[in-house]
Amino acid sequence: MFPSWQKFVFFGVLLLCFAGAAGHAQTAKHIVVIDAAHGGDDAGVLGVDGAAEKDVTLAVALALQKELAKAGGLEVLLTRKTDRTLSLEERKKIILKTNPALVLSLHANAGFGKTATGFELYYPGFAKVRAANKTVPAVGAPDNRHLNDTVKLARLVQKNLDNLFPRQGRGLREAGIPLAEGLAVPVLVVEMGFITNANGKKKLTSRKTQAEIAAALAKSIQGFF
Ligand SMILES: [Zn+2]
Repeated sequence: MFPSWQKFVFFGVLLLCFAGAAGHAQTAKHIVVIDAAHGGDDAGVLGVDGAAEKDVTLAVALALQKELAKAGGLEVLLTRKTDRTLSLEERKKIILKTNPALVLSLHANAGFGKTATGFELYYPGFAKVRAANKTVPAVGAPDNRHLNDTVKLARLVQKNLDNLFPRQGRGLREAGIPLAEGLAVPVLVVEMGFITNANGKKKLTSRKTQAEIAAALAKSIQGFF
């Protein structure tokens, strides 16, 4: 038998554990990873007047983080916060470590000719990947839940970007996404527009439009949860 003071301490500790667990459950936030594609030595695509994709993705990622912080309720992580080189593996490591509810990877597009315009959304071609790997056990493979989540987020992004850029949507497409390969996490790639035409470049490099895109993306993410 424990002396009574030991029992007291034992039950006290037990109580603290339960209180701690309950408190933690209440304050647990959804984690969202925002990936500013390219960076550092990798400029991404180069547009009009040498505008670099890496600068546009970083500016919108930072604005999006700010926008989401205003509303609160989410834990938002950026794969990079500065103009630095970051490999695909390093980005994946961040995603694996934090196990986020969503990953949004931001890109800007380059088009054939100078007339290509508009935004595009890509989600991983899970069905194709799974069909090709029938003999491989689906350990860590994206499942239907992640596909559903990605499509749900994609539809919200499509709607909110469409409000910002009417009739500029080029659609929601299934594609091989290297960042998503082997990860069981919803990953959506947002090609925010083309920096290879004068108007697109002007918009994507303007603070005002970057903030507007960030607001549309923030609204989509908040709508998702
Ligand atoms: Zn890119």
